[in-house]
Amino acid sequence: MNSKEDISLDIINAVDILYQHSSENLNSYNPVSEIITPEWHYSDSFQIFDNNIQINWDNLGGEFDLIKTMINSLEKKATIPDDAIIVGAEFERSFCSWYQPYHYLPRQKWGVHLRYDSWMRVSAHFYHNCPSLLGRKLDSIKSAFLYLYVHELFHNSVENAASIMEILLGKPHIYAKYYSEVYSNVFNSSNCIEEALSNGYLFLWAEECCHINRDFLKDELLKQGPGYHDFIKYSSSSGSSSNLSKGNRILLSQIRHGDLNPATTAYDPIEQLIDISNPIQYSSIYNVPIWLHRKPKPVY
Ligand SMILES: [Zn+2]
Repeated sequence: MNSKEDISLDIINAVDILYQHSSENLNSYNPVSEIITPEWHYSDSFQIFDNNIQINWDNLGGEFDLIKTMINSLEKKATIPDDAIIVGAEFERSFCSWYQPYHYLPRQKWGVHLRYDSWMRVSAHFYHNCPSLLGRKLDSIKSAFLYLYVHELFHNSVENAASIMEILLGKPHIYAKYYSEVYSNVFNSSNCIEEALSNGYLFLWAEECCHINRDFLKDELLKQGPGYHDFIKYSSSSGSSSNLSKGNRILLSQIRHGDLNPATTAYDPIEQLIDISNPIQYSSIYNVPIWLHRKPKPVY
């Protein structure tokens, strides 16, 4: 095994070996570009917080030029109307952030993708409205980053769980089948459990890792669209992760069987495959690249 930062690489290598022994190539069709739109999916981006930087609250400081620029522009941002916030903060639904799975080629830019303007907008919203961040520029920028990042990190955890199934079962197409036949079909609907669980994971760790007031975040996420606002079904007022784990069991049965509605008898107790541990610890083990986009690519 490689060093701890390279567990993602180990998993990707194992998936590649599986595909090499399969009669079919690693799928060429990538549904992500349809969900995010080609303008954003193919737009120019650059990697931020490279592999040498451990993602945590203390390391996301004002010494980065990017964050310095954001601090300066946050002062100039007026309060943004409420409806603009909802539209601008709904992760994939508003093309604000997304996760590019490593199962799709080309793989150069797999990982978490963020839009600079969305990050700025969420920062300004937190700066003006989140009780735990009011008037604190740097902290609002850090929390906004973690808000987007933690949600997307869950999608990586789901892909890794699917990869483990593929490796153990010797079946290479489990994730791609689920992504194209289940996730893509129900995206933006109340049947999209993966989005509900991604927000559930964010909600679980919001205060401890992201410094976002829990009641504030609950209200924000409840305003989001179908699927996303269903996080509440997989959360608990006590902060327990048991409802999230129940949801993960359902999601994993969908993935394993490539079926939106597998028989409940197919709900195998394998939810531990999805790692829902502290996102900071998770990101220290799984080195997930982070990409920043500034403007959409013109599409003619
Ligand atoms: Zn998502």
